[in-house]
Amino acid sequence: MEIPLPHYLSATLDRVREDTSGAVADYIPELAAADPDPLAVALCTATGHVYSAGDDGVEFSIQSIAKPFAYAVALQEVGVEKVLATVGMEPSGEAFNELSLDGGTHRPVNPMINAGAIAVSQLINGEDSTVDDRVELLRHYFSRLAGRDLRIDERVTGSELATADRNLALAHMLRSYGIIADTAEDAVAGYVRECSMLVTVKDLAVMGATLALGGRQPVTGDQVLDPRVCRQVQSVMASAGMYDGAGKWMAGVGIPAKSGVAGGLLGTLPGQLGIATFSPRLDGSGNSVRGAEVFRILSDDMGLHLMSALPSRGSAVRSIRSRGLATVIRLQGGLGFTGAEDFLSTVAAHELTTTRVVVDMRRVNDTNSFGRAMVLEGLRRIREDGHRVAVIDPDGLLGDRRLDDGTQVETSEDA
Ligand code: GLN
Repeated sequence: MEIPLPHYLSATLDRVREDTSGAVADYIPELAAADPDPLAVALCTATGHVYSAGDDGVEFSIQSIAKPFAYAVALQEVGVEKVLATVGMEPSGEAFNELSLDGGTHRPVNPMINAGAIAVSQLINGEDSTVDDRVELLRHYFSRLAGRDLRIDERVTGSELATADRNLALAHMLRSYGIIADTAEDAVAGYVRECSMLVTVKDLAVMGATLALGGRQPVTGDQVLDPRVCRQVQSVMASAGMYDGAGKWMAGVGIPAKSGVAGGLLGTLPGQLGIATFSPRLDGSGNSVRGAEVFRILSDDMGLHLMSALPSRGSAVRSIRSRGLATVIRLQGGLGFTGAEDFLSTVAAHELTTTRVVVDMRRVNDTNSFGRAMVLEGLRRIREDGHRVAVIDPDGLLGDRRLDDGTQVETSEDA
């Protein structure tokens, strides 16, 4: 069987292809000279399947899409507390190159704008790091996220550094407030080099999927980042990733995203997907025109909007039946709060008449700690009511099956 996704993605690109509105970024000479026409899209699923269409082999500089990943590396390497002391997490509602500093602390308001990203970059590899070592650590992380060795386009770096007055001004200001220690020149050189990392849409889709999947790169299986880091990064992306267009983006598209001035656009759908597009012409906020359009179409067609999550249909309790001396409760799907609540309320409403109660977990595919704790507490109470309790849990989804009273729930082979 041929999977119809690449065909669907191609057809989606055809729907936006004729739109030549917007313009390539002109404040970086190397980008001003870039071909404006390439168009590409890629998706990476939780199982590591990558689907793509269009100019999916063309490399372009990552630009501001480096920001969420550099933020992730800083969180991973130096911890949340230190990072939050340096940069806030409120949307600025302003353009990417505005000097948006918190009135009281003078911290940049978030890591998705240039001021914030320059400050974050300083945290990586320690304050005493050379620019080269700092960038190399980032390149190493970005390569693990992409699953291949990424390189830096020094021509883009040189070209941007030759016209970097704005970023130098931001760095001088950060330095004057003691937010960064490096010279403004070094701070900007490091930041601009990280923006010059070359990627394709496929790289970005896989990197985004890694954020969406709690830091586990779905193609290589490499656990690159901690789940909490990924949660933090995507939260900030959701509110600030699209700059002054962030609110409209969240309402219309509903996918945490980050754009870059070379024309890349990255989206992450928590637990599900990484998505990336490439098309160099930008709108007034510096976001890719056709890229954003492709995101809008995919979000609508595929039902990806975060806020339109379907209510989990059906219940976590597949069946509850008495067989001889045992009542067998079959569970299914994901056991988070909602699933575990369904288990507890179903059991509470059911009159248990048998001596044995067996909970069959074989159709459950995932749990979280809250869901596990609720199910285990339910089992403890069933036992307290005088029943013998056992679980069928060959994949160990309930963890060590320890109850509040220190005992373990027995396992059962058969129902
Ligand atoms: N390197 C670019 C800059 O600092 C990145 C901006 C962007 O992609 N929005 O201006």
